[in-house]
Amino acid sequence: RTVLRELTELQIKNPDISPLESLPDADPNVFLKRYLKKIRDLGEGHFGKVMLYVYDPANDGTGDYVAVKALKHEGGSHLHEGWMKEIEILKSLYHSNIVKYKGCCSELGGQTVQLIMEFLPLGSLREYLAKHRLGVAHSLLFAQQICQGMDYLHSKRYIHRDLAARNVLVENEHLVKIGDFGLTKYIPEGDVYYRVREDGVSPVYWYAIECLKESKFSFSSDIWSFGVTLYEVLTHGDHRQSPPVATNPFTLPCPRDCPSEVHMLMQHCWDFDPARRPSFKSLIESIEAIRK
Ligand code: ADP
Ligand code: MG
Repeated sequence: RTVLRELTELQIKNPDISPLESLPDADPNVFLKRYLKKIRDLGEGHFGKVMLYVYDPANDGTGDYVAVKALKHEGGSHLHEGWMKEIEILKSLYHSNIVKYKGCCSELGGQTVQLIMEFLPLGSLREYLAKHRLGVAHSLLFAQQICQGMDYLHSKRYIHRDLAARNVLVENEHLVKIGDFGLTKYIPEGDVYYRVREDGVSPVYWYAIECLKESKFSFSSDIWSFGVTLYEVLTHGDHRQSPPVATNPFTLPCPRDCPSEVHMLMQHCWDFDPARRPSFKSLIESIEAIRK
């Protein structure tokens, strides 16, 4: 392998590069900053910023595209702790409808860490909806895939807490994946909900009634957010059709061209009684039945 030979020669010429570092295939999850070349910004949310890079350790233009996520404001140890958790969670997830973890890039002895994920070329579902007018069948295909990713997440006892079109990524016109696990929490066996007090940056529009009133997050509150996400998809991401915060989405009209069974499904997700909402498993079946 010529690449290996070149690297070895480079190493002999440059003794500052330790043998472990100069062989990038030693640990495929360790990305070295000097081989990361920035292409462009991909997007940002409240806490993170995501950029497109090429990782090219051979330095011959054969590198791969990767999406690199960094904390927007490095600083507080509290933030750093949450960020390390987000990375650990994504690392532990493996599903065709969840964005794939590729590794980390650390600087300053681990004081700052960047998360390296696969790059999804079509960006967030939010942006995709603005550019493409999805028909009902297409919308339901994406909705079902979101449910599959979420069902897997719940099977691992994680609640997402930030399910929305902006946090769903589009690989191609037939495949979406859930991204952004920044607010994800683990629900220990036997517990039913997670209680939080947060500052003013919470995505309240997607929040279930019990999250707003009692700060109680559960598997069922993700179902509520899925209902809002489904509404976003069927209204083509047109937030002018969105209700003002604190409107009960149950009273929203059926989106134009949306089958009434799909509208009923959303309304089922917005039941004020969390126990009466469907599970992602049953949503997968219902959507399957409507798609047939
Ligand atoms: P935050 O935690 O700050 O909300 P996200 O993880 O949601 O950050 O990423 C912000 C935006 O960056 C997304 O809405 C999307 O547009 C873009 N993005 C994130 N991850 C990827 C990826 N793997 N491929 C392509 N675009 C991405
Ligand atoms: Mg986000």
